[in-house]
Amino acid sequence: MTRGSSPRKLVLAVIDALDPRGFERATREGSAPALAALMERGDYVSDCVSSFPSITPVAASSIATGLGPAEHLIPSLNWYHRGEERYVEYGSSFPATRTFGIFRSLQDTVYNMNLAHLTQERKTVFEHLDDAGLRTAGTTYLIYRGRHRHEPSTGSRYSRLAEAAQFRHAVWGPRELFYADIFDSRRTGCFSTLGMPGQRDAHAGCVGEYLVENDLFDFLLLSLPDNDTYSHRLGPEAQPTSIAEADRALGRMMDAAGGADTFLEEHSVIVMADHSQNAIDSSVNLALALDGWRLLLPADLAPEEADIAVCPGARSAQVYVVEEERREGLAPRLAEDLCEVEGVDLVARRGHEEGIVQTRRGELRFARGGELVDPRGESWSVDGDLQALGLEVEDGIVRSQDYPDALARLWSALDCPRSGDVLLSAKPGVEFMDWGGHDHVGGGSHGSLHRCDSLGVLLMCGVGSRSREQWAIRDVAPTVLEHFGVTG
Ligand SMILES: [Zn+2]
Repeated sequence: MTRGSSPRKLVLAVIDALDPRGFERATREGSAPALAALMERGDYVSDCVSSFPSITPVAASSIATGLGPAEHLIPSLNWYHRGEERYVEYGSSFPATRTFGIFRSLQDTVYNMNLAHLTQERKTVFEHLDDAGLRTAGTTYLIYRGRHRHEPSTGSRYSRLAEAAQFRHAVWGPRELFYADIFDSRRTGCFSTLGMPGQRDAHAGCVGEYLVENDLFDFLLLSLPDNDTYSHRLGPEAQPTSIAEADRALGRMMDAAGGADTFLEEHSVIVMADHSQNAIDSSVNLALALDGWRLLLPADLAPEEADIAVCPGARSAQVYVVEEERREGLAPRLAEDLCEVEGVDLVARRGHEEGIVQTRRGELRFARGGELVDPRGESWSVDGDLQALGLEVEDGIVRSQDYPDALARLWSALDCPRSGDVLLSAKPGVEFMDWGGHDHVGGGSHGSLHRCDSLGVLLMCGVGSRSREQWAIRDVAPTVLEHFGVTG
C-alpha cells in the first residue's frame, strides 16, 4: 500500500436512482443549487452504467468494491441461499419483508449482507483506505464494511428501539459510522428515526455538516437514498422534487465549509447514481406464471418437494433449480417456459463456458475472449442473433445502444455462484411483483439490463478523471483509490 502526497479530502455522494433527465432538469431549473455548482465545476457523465441486476444491493456492492456480482457475491435483492436452503430478502418492500419475517430480513440486510454474504476475499473501498491509514466515514449505506469496530448506539430513544429490534451486535465499519441511529461513532445530535424513508437524506446532511465542521474524514461516503423511494412511488418524472432534498443535504455539508468554492478548495466530490428508474405500467406475478412447477414457498411446509425457487428483483428476477443434480436438466426447460411469460424481455442462463440469451428477437450465445472488443476494452466471442441484445459490430468493436455494457454485465451475473440458474430482465414498463404481492405500477422501478433503468449520473469534481467511452459504476472505487494514491 502506498500513499501519495496529501490529496484533497473526498466525498462520494451516492444519490440513489439519480436519473440524468431529472438531474439535468433540477440543476437547470434552480431547485438543486449545490448540484448545479458542482456541475459547473466538474466533469459530467450522463450514461454511467449500473450492474446487472440494476438494483441497489448489487449496485451498492459494485460501487463499494469496484467488482461485479461474480466477484462481490451479492446477486440480487431477493435470492435463494443454497447453503442455508432458504430465501434471503433485503427489503424489496414492507409486505415482502413481512412475508419472510421482519427480523430475519433486517438481520440479513444490516448484518449478513456485509459480514457474511459480501465477498471476504476482496476489500471494500473503506477497508483499502483504512489499511492505508486514511480517515474513513460513512452515513447509512447498504455496504459499510471497514476495519473499525462499532458497538450499537446506546442512550437515545432510537437506540432503545434498535435494541428492541434486535440490533445488538457490533459491526466492522469505517472509522466514523452513522447508520440509521443503530450505529453512531459520535454524538452528532443527528437522528433519522431508524433510517425512515424521507428522513435519511436530512440525516446524512446533518452528519455531513458535523463531520466537515470537525474535520473528521479524508473519505466520506455520503449516502442519499430518499430519491429512490420517492421515484418508486411517483415515477422518475417526479425526481426533481426528491433531488432537491438530496441537494439540501449536500448544500448543508458544503455550507459548513463556507459554500461551494471554499468547500472545493479542500475537498473533491463525486456525485453518482447506482442506477436510474423506468416508469412502470404493468407487473408480472412469476409465481402464477410458473404454476406448472412446484415452487419453494417463503414458509414452505414441505420444502423438500420444491423444484424451483423464484426470486423477483424488481425489473429483474432469478429462478433457481433447488436440487444441484437437476440443475443442468431443468434449467433449459425453465428458460423455455420463462420466454413465454408476458413482460419478460431477456432470459439468460449458463451453458458450457458460455452464456445463452433467449429473447423473442432470437437467441445468442457469448463467451469471454475472442475477436470482438467492447467499448470498455474487454474481448468477447458471440454467436447467433445479434439483435437479441441489440448488438452492432463495427471494425471489431461490439456495442449495444439498448443494453449498455450488455456482455460484461450479463457475464458477471451469470458467473456469480449465488445467482439463479435462469436470469430474467423485464421489458421497459414492466416489473416483477415481489413475494409480498407488491409492485410499483403507476410509479417507477429498476433492475433490468435495458438502458431505461441502467444509465445514471456520474459527476466528478476535482478527481483526475480520464475520458472513457463507457463509464460504469464499478470504475468509481478504483477512481477513489487512485485519488488517494492507494493501490488496490
Ligand atoms: Zn429502488
